[in-house]
Amino acid sequence: MAAIKSKPDLLEHYRSLDQGSKIQAEYIWIDGDGELRCKTTTCDSKITDIKQLKEWNFDGSSTNQAPGHDSDIYLRPVAFFKDPMRGGDNILVIAECYNSDGTPNKTNYRHYCKKAMDQAKDEEPWFGIEQEYSLLDVDGYPYGWPKGGFPGPQGPYYCGVGAGKVFARDLVEAHYRACLYAGVNISGINAEVMPSQWEFQVGPCASIDMGDHLTLARFLLVRLAEEWGCVVSFHPKILPKGEWNGAGAHTNVSTKSTRTPGIGMKAMESMIRKLEAKHADHIAAYGEGNELRLTGKHETGNIAEFTSGVANRGSSVRIPRHVHSQGYGYFEDRRPASNIDPYRVTGLIVETCLLD
Ligand code: ADP
Ligand code: MN
Ligand code: MN
Ligand code: MN
Ligand code: MN
Repeated sequence: MAAIKSKPDLLEHYRSLDQGSKIQAEYIWIDGDGELRCKTTTCDSKITDIKQLKEWNFDGSSTNQAPGHDSDIYLRPVAFFKDPMRGGDNILVIAECYNSDGTPNKTNYRHYCKKAMDQAKDEEPWFGIEQEYSLLDVDGYPYGWPKGGFPGPQGPYYCGVGAGKVFARDLVEAHYRACLYAGVNISGINAEVMPSQWEFQVGPCASIDMGDHLTLARFLLVRLAEEWGCVVSFHPKILPKGEWNGAGAHTNVSTKSTRTPGIGMKAMESMIRKLEAKHADHIAAYGEGNELRLTGKHETGNIAEFTSGVANRGSSVRIPRHVHSQGYGYFEDRRPASNIDPYRVTGLIVETCLLD
């Protein structure tokens, strides 16, 4: 399928027209396949409080979230951000999905996550997620790779600089700025080991904010890539054969205790033992296709066993060297795949480590 060429020059005139006091609110939600969906509504005036936003609905039978005979799914606004595409007072809204009987939709891990976070609030859990992703051409082949062929082997690309080593930096830069404008707590970016693979980091974010900020950052990436005619893949291993790295979503975790000098290391060790005991449950929640990635090669631990270590990027859980030296801080769960539901993963970590 050929990409339909957008015409940004033509759009510019209409974007600059006065929209009066009305604003546009883009509701964003997670569909039945873990992909993002969105639709827009007009609000009469600027939104300053989440309560001003209406509960809305959509046809869940078109998003793999409901059967055709009972297809209404309700969208409850839970967080909003500035909209970098439309600018002005326009906003992007994260919404949770509820069925017509009032129960959370099967995709609504935020509902579950929020409960866990509320129960664990005395421990003030913080998270930082390193979102790796791959850029593809509209034909599904890695972006910028010679068609039908391969670029030179991995080595020069990670944090690379220079033509031939770096792909689509303009898109990545635009995304970074769009996140800052929106109010996403993005903390950095880097080019990854596989050419056309990148990473952005979001965090540290307190409790439920992790899922909201990561979801919004993903939305912005996919939305901007649309303008570049580029497809974003969050699949954990787009090339299972050959020496090409997979894509993860390393999840960094800390609590009030782990951040406290003197007791931090002990608190982390206790949490890591709990994670070890529940390894299989965590793997089940850590992304589709993750078995292709967690092979024990390419900076991963093997899916079949839980390991931990200081500065060891071949382990399931790593304590960064500087954290170990100072004796407090955070640890990194390296198992989550790039296509995780961040609400599900952070909720489960809290449940295992703090609510047992
Ligand atoms: P790596 O060396 O694994 O590539 P990065 O610099 O890419 O590390 O990512 C580190 C992550 O750790 C960031 O997402 C950051 O937000 C997160 N982080 C830093 N401090 C904390 C903390 N106290 N609690 C939770 N996450 C943290
Ligand atoms: Mn309609
Ligand atoms: Mn990283
Ligand atoms: Mn990385
Ligand atoms: Mn990492």
